[in-house]
Amino acid sequence: MTVAIYPGTFDPLTLGHLDIINRISKLFDRVVVGIARVSTGKDVLFDLDSRMQMVTEAVAHLSNVVVAPFEGLTVRFAKEQKASVLVRGLRAVSDFDYEFMMSQMNKNLAGEIETMFVMAGLEFQFLSSSLVKEVARLGGDISAFVPGHVARLLAKKLGSASKKAPPKAKPA
Ligand code: ADP
Repeated sequence: MTVAIYPGTFDPLTLGHLDIINRISKLFDRVVVGIARVSTGKDVLFDLDSRMQMVTEAVAHLSNVVVAPFEGLTVRFAKEQKASVLVRGLRAVSDFDYEFMMSQMNKNLAGEIETMFVMAGLEFQFLSSSLVKEVARLGGDISAFVPGHVARLLAKKLGSASKKAPPKAKPA
């Protein structure tokens, strides 16, 4: 039985992520989508529970895909899950340097775990969670980039965030 992990921050889950999950679910016996509690250098909009829920709902139709939280080393998480493959998605040229470096480091840390890259679908090459958040914050329509339930969560989150903002001081 071949187990693969697909780790990431998923803040929020996009249709690009979901495309990768759908495709790799056909290649492995079991896929564990690993949701990183925190990600170095990243400010997360959604807490771990919300990110877990949004991914769990999106993969409910895939019987061999499960969702699990993790923190710390990705290769340690892979070993805990008894995974032999670590899948990462690759977009155009932007991801290559970092992903290449990480895969070499992970190879040094755990030689038995193979990193596999899956090319993002053409229509998702320029889609990222950070861009989705930026557009949503500015009031743009992100419904073509994320599942419906994620779009609703984003609207709720950013709507309530703007409601919580203190009123602007009146000019003197
Ligand atoms: P991380 O913080 O680990 O980069 P992300 O949630 O941003 O987590 O991404 C998780 C994985 O999904 C990464 O391998 C990333 O390259 C990949 N990915 C992100 N966006 C897309 C997309 N539009 N299409 C395909 N893969 C993607």
